[in-house]
Amino acid sequence: MNQKVVFRSLILVILFLLLAKAIHWVVIVSGFNPGDVELSTTFAILLFMIVFYLIAPISIGFLVKSPSENQALVNRLNGILDSLTWKNRVILFDHEEKYIFTTGLLTLYSCTYLSTGMLKYLSEDGLKGVLAHELTHVREHHILLSLITACVVVLVVHPFELNFMLLTGFFIFLAIRRLLEYRADVGSAKLVGKQALLKSLFELSALKPTNAQERWFVFAQPYPTLSMRIRALETGMHPLF
Ligand SMILES: [Zn+2]
Repeated sequence: MNQKVVFRSLILVILFLLLAKAIHWVVIVSGFNPGDVELSTTFAILLFMIVFYLIAPISIGFLVKSPSENQALVNRLNGILDSLTWKNRVILFDHEEKYIFTTGLLTLYSCTYLSTGMLKYLSEDGLKGVLAHELTHVREHHILLSLITACVVVLVVHPFELNFMLLTGFFIFLAIRRLLEYRADVGSAKLVGKQALLKSLFELSALKPTNAQERWFVFAQPYPTLSMRIRALETGMHPLF
């Protein structure tokens, strides 16, 4: 990761900590249920999550800064996007690390960010597979569903003790996120074919092979391992743990 991105990431972390503090303060001084500290904390957590998801495109824009001007790579990306029957906004940014992710609560302003490192690394089919996976997240509103899940979990577990609440909510949220990853793979396979998506997953696996420890600690991860995703595609089974 280059120094500018590290510096901007640090600034973002500090800004989010300040935002969390400010939201909590506003909830308290606005007199929201002053007798019930747990309820006002819950309300502050909900507000923070909603704001966090809403401004995610701005935060990512701050990190990425400007789209790549490498015309050859932009043309390659556009060629692949043209071959997809359903598309969404994709921004290519200069970075040697291999990244692809999507932000935006609503389809209208959602955007997929792809690093030049990832674009150069993956084959044609590999790129189709990962792009179709991200497009399915957008098409099926997975980011909005993640936020709703997080809010429901916080509301349901809020009467319990804070540590229990955070831990339980965290693990339930992660399990739903893993389910959405499988859903995105199913959508991707429908859009570009199972073989293209399998190719993406094998290419990503070659980059970062799944190790045994990773498989054991998958319950604490927001994503199934790549080997779990490959097996899910081959067998149709979607194990969450
Ligand atoms: Zn995904």
